[in-house]
Amino acid sequence: MTRSIETIDQTYVWHPFTQMKQYTETKPLIIERGEGAYLIDVDGNRYLDGYASLWVNVHGHNDSAMNEAIIAQLGRIAHSTLLGAGNVPSSLLAKALVERAPGPLSKVFYSDTGSAAVEIALKMAYQYWKNEDPKRYEQRNLFVSLEGAYHGDTIGSISVGGVETFHGVFEPLLFETIQVPSPHPYAYESEDEAMRVSLEALEHVFQTYGERISAFIIEPLMQAAAGLIRHPDGYLKAVESLCRMYDILLIADEVAVGFGRTGTLFAVEREGVEPDLLCLGKGLTGGYVPLAVTMATDRIYDAFLGTGYDDRTFLHGHTYTGNQVTCTAALKNIELFDERNVLGHVRKTIERIQPSLRRLEALDVVGDVRAQGLMIGVELTSDRATKRVAPTVWAERVVEAMKERGIIIRNIGPVLTIVPVLMMAHDDVERILTTLYDVLRERTFE
Ligand code: PMP
Repeated sequence: MTRSIETIDQTYVWHPFTQMKQYTETKPLIIERGEGAYLIDVDGNRYLDGYASLWVNVHGHNDSAMNEAIIAQLGRIAHSTLLGAGNVPSSLLAKALVERAPGPLSKVFYSDTGSAAVEIALKMAYQYWKNEDPKRYEQRNLFVSLEGAYHGDTIGSISVGGVETFHGVFEPLLFETIQVPSPHPYAYESEDEAMRVSLEALEHVFQTYGERISAFIIEPLMQAAAGLIRHPDGYLKAVESLCRMYDILLIADEVAVGFGRTGTLFAVEREGVEPDLLCLGKGLTGGYVPLAVTMATDRIYDAFLGTGYDDRTFLHGHTYTGNQVTCTAALKNIELFDERNVLGHVRKTIERIQPSLRRLEALDVVGDVRAQGLMIGVELTSDRATKRVAPTVWAERVVEAMKERGIIIRNIGPVLTIVPVLMMAHDDVERILTTLYDVLRERTFE
């Protein structure tokens, strides 16, 4: 049975972000079950989920409260369309999100993946200006983002992305965007310098292109796929001020950093920032089912009000927009955030792991440890003094060694990324960091 499911997987499934030739040449990991913070494979091996099943899992796997809510909804209805009709869970979820969202975000537009949520935000921003004044804003089609940005895999979202390895091949298909340096302290002499260079470049772009820019899009506080780049405190607030000064819309892509990852429900709350558009995905449903949203302010929404279908309407929608099962999962997730004090748990975990992070930092092979909430990046170096980037294969071997010790983490190039299930027990999070320390100290990966 085990052998055959592995073969079936390797014969029929095309995996994402995966070189399939390599994948089909090695024994695959096939997950069969989940239990709390553990994943269990078809051979019965247990692994601590140190990447929250790609940054999504909040309460643990196979949580009975989550399961029961989803099953109860299935007993009512699984899906009906949001085109021309509403439904109960999508109405209640929109209300719950608006009540918790920062600032004047007052409307919720549903989709099913983070990429779609970003695509929608870009289209809304672009059309917003068109609706405001089609003549004046005829040329307002530029977007600005950060170097190394990652906002998803659709053509629109990769247009504003800046990860060469992911996006390079599609270059001829992408629309024009402008990228400014990311405030990555490790790449500069100091946090202050990183922040100054980035903000000066941003202001220069705003001054130069002004009314040609639709919006600036940013992953608040930390750039995930860029290799967990933690922005200096105060950077996001300064970005918001520049956007306001030049009247450029601010899109917060919280697909990765939202929903508790940073210790607050929304990452922008940490700096009192109020974006015009905000995207959520991943942890929104506790990591159970795919759902994403794009939230908008009244300023944006009102510009789409018109007299008929052809007049200002946002002509966008997906088949499963507002699906009842996914919205129910998100509603239950939010309820459990309060009931189980998820944010309190996250904050305590962050506090508890500080000594372990400092210990990692002291290792010779570690160039940088950067943490923002429960997102931890450990960048390997082959020469600390010059910050020489370690070969990616080192990080890959560390990931493999961790797996052999029953812990799943991932690497982005030379950066090891630890993104635990939010409600993972403190001792389990500590176990990940202690095991990583041992693996790095033993240096068997060289
Ligand atoms: N934005 C950010 C910041 C992300 O990290 C991701 C996915 N990792 C996305 C958007 C795209 O989300 P999805 O994979 O659900 O399309």
